[in-house]
Amino acid sequence: MNKSSKLLSWLWSIQNCNYAAKTAVSSKNIPQPGARSLMSARPTPIFDGHNDTLLKLELKHGTDRERDFFKAADYDHIDLPRARQGGLAGGFFALWVPSNIGVGTNFSDDDPRNFASVPQGPALEFTHKLINRAEAIAAASNGEVVICRTSEEISAGIEAGKFTMLLHIEGAEAIDAEFTALDALYERGLRSIGPVWSRKNIFADGVPMRFNSSPDTGDGLTEVGRELVRRCNAKGIMLDVSHITEKGFWDMAAINEKPIVATHSNAHAVCPHARNLTDKQLAAIAETKGVVGINYAVQFLRDDGRLDPNTPLEVVVRHADYLLSKLGEDGVALGSDFDGCTVPNGIKDAAGLPNLLNAFRAAGYGEALIEKIAYKNWLSLLKRTGI
Ligand SMILES: [Zn+2]
Repeated sequence: MNKSSKLLSWLWSIQNCNYAAKTAVSSKNIPQPGARSLMSARPTPIFDGHNDTLLKLELKHGTDRERDFFKAADYDHIDLPRARQGGLAGGFFALWVPSNIGVGTNFSDDDPRNFASVPQGPALEFTHKLINRAEAIAAASNGEVVICRTSEEISAGIEAGKFTMLLHIEGAEAIDAEFTALDALYERGLRSIGPVWSRKNIFADGVPMRFNSSPDTGDGLTEVGRELVRRCNAKGIMLDVSHITEKGFWDMAAINEKPIVATHSNAHAVCPHARNLTDKQLAAIAETKGVVGINYAVQFLRDDGRLDPNTPLEVVVRHADYLLSKLGEDGVALGSDFDGCTVPNGIKDAAGLPNLLNAFRAAGYGEALIEKIAYKNWLSLLKRTGI
């Protein structure tokens, strides 16, 4: 660890003292005059529903040398210094396998090769590599970064000022039809699975990256997909409906015994992209006391679906307003898609997260609601899911 990250670590621990005092106050539910000005001394912690940081580190994105998670870069979205600066206290770290393993980092939605199916053997090998990377970061962090397996570990980690990672599979190509790999990956810390990404696999069909489209674009869960849902319920692995077709969504809803969760999706009524959730889907999520993490990808936010980073933060607020009206205050969280998408310039990267929370404040959201959206709703959802 270098000098500057030691300094950041120290700053974080100072900020954390304020955080402990703040939670002590809020747990009593007594309004504290002037509390807001005390709180503004540090960013509100954020636990986020989705990032592709492990992939970007593995592929040495943006450099021919190893990316250093402990040094601030001026490209991509997450590293420890920028996370500290913006209050990002951790999140779901995706284990995602590219269709063309080893063929660069151009994941353009316009190239059909990026949606080709991936065989299980290489997918499992690549997934283990990503977990190795997470473990190497934790091991090199001097205790600053922890891989968490329970909601209690995440809560304790955030309170202790640590950066917390929860391992999540996005597209379960690494898992075989006999579920041997599922057991092995669970042992390594896997606690959340989206059965499918936007390409078909043995479990389900995924939605295409298509604007002005219903999410009803293909088949639902296969028989082995249904078995995956049952096994995840039994093992205590959260299931994620982001990227699945509408048929797959209803198939999962019918057998999943836990709350329905979309880690990184938005409202279809605000932006009619196939990746977003219809009102009917949101009603089903609300019924199970599930959670939706707001995705910052501009093409899933804008009502014209354009890939324009000059998208004002008010557009994110529009989705938050809509999701709150359908899911209530306990059902809306954040699911940035950092390191996997184009985000609004107003956020730019993890260091810019306070700008988003300020946009919520400007829209009249109170601090209690902002804390729920920022991290408390993910923590209580994981608890309700048995994690
Ligand atoms: Zn995704």
